[in-house]
Amino acid sequence: MPTAEIITIGTELLLGETVDTNTHHIARALRDIGVDLYRTSTVGDNRERIAQILREALQRAEIIITTGGLGPTVDDPTREAVALAFGVETEFRPELWQQILERFQRYGRKPTENNRRQARIPKGAIPIENPVGTAPAFIMETGNSAVISLPGVPREMEHLLQTRVLPYLKERFRLNSIIRARVLHTSGVGESQIDARIGDLERLSNPTVGLAAHAGQVDVRITAKAESAAEADRLIASVEAELRQRLGNWIYGADDETLEQVALRTIAAQEWNLAVVEANLGGRLIQRLAAADGPFLGGDMLTEQPSLPQLQAILRATCQKRSASAGLGASLIPGETRQTLHIALLTPRGEKTTTRTFGGPPQLATRWSVNLCLDFIRRIGKDEHDPQS
Ligand code: AMP
Ligand code: MG
Repeated sequence: MPTAEIITIGTELLLGETVDTNTHHIARALRDIGVDLYRTSTVGDNRERIAQILREALQRAEIIITTGGLGPTVDDPTREAVALAFGVETEFRPELWQQILERFQRYGRKPTENNRRQARIPKGAIPIENPVGTAPAFIMETGNSAVISLPGVPREMEHLLQTRVLPYLKERFRLNSIIRARVLHTSGVGESQIDARIGDLERLSNPTVGLAAHAGQVDVRITAKAESAAEADRLIASVEAELRQRLGNWIYGADDETLEQVALRTIAAQEWNLAVVEANLGGRLIQRLAAADGPFLGGDMLTEQPSLPQLQAILRATCQKRSASAGLGASLIPGETRQTLHIALLTPRGEKTTTRTFGGPPQLATRWSVNLCLDFIRRIGKDEHDPQS
């Protein structure tokens, strides 16, 4: 893996007049293509000091990106400084001058004699045409390194970085790293509880670990960058093992696995089958179970919202009517500030109930309830494997 340094050039940066946003932007871009950035520095518009920093950087890094100092005036010394660092002269490049003239023509302005300076680049450098400004950029290559000099104006710098420099770096340094992701799904636990347990892993740089919360369900995404799929998968596997260790039974599945699949798999593993009754869930619990593979016998939608004891009685009757060995009943009761969900579970092992309240956005209450019901089913006999809170 090549390493990189960024050198921003401009006395205005050292005087605190301009905020150096270029470093930030380039650093992000290098990270995204898998290049390790080891150092950044800022230097004023002084040819000797720039040349010295360049020589130092060339001892350490393969990729050196400079910004600034490519304007037309004498105090824009980057061209001369790069030439000095490499021990060459600058040379006038007629094709660059032609491009500058055309650009001025399009802007309806006349170039000054100063602008000719911008057509001079270090001898042997590869020019980069600048379609969004007048200052051409260039790349100076040595054995296994490259110094890439870009304009200081952020909009121009960003354009050349995206369209020319990153493609160049990928090819020259064979940066064919690939990115793979795996998502672990959790249910029945809040984002902050998960965060408290894996906060340190969320600060890893490769793989990265990130959380995405949905109603009643939190996803943990692992993303790895590597040179091969096998290597990326190996990186992911070691972090996944650690996550599974810490999150235990909070995790119900990965990638395409759904909570309803896992819930029905749990029922199937006991050689049971399942019927449900739901109140005020719009048929969503029945729909999700019916769409998954497994021993689901169907369910009833109630028109009233029963209390918990009423719900249990209705559930017993439904299971009998449908010859189901297991049943789940859910009743979502609206309230002023929060909604209340009663869940009753009936299995050959006995009955279990729970009552939860939801204070989030009312439009998410159904989704939250259905996820909670499915979570209740998939935890049959497994609650003792939850991490200790
Ligand atoms: P230059 O290419 O040195 O003539 O820079 C042109 C303009 O770009 C400067 O006047 C600054 O406003 C801006 N600029 C230069 N370097 C940076 C930087 N590192 N971050 C943000 N803006 C910059
Ligand atoms: Mg400048």
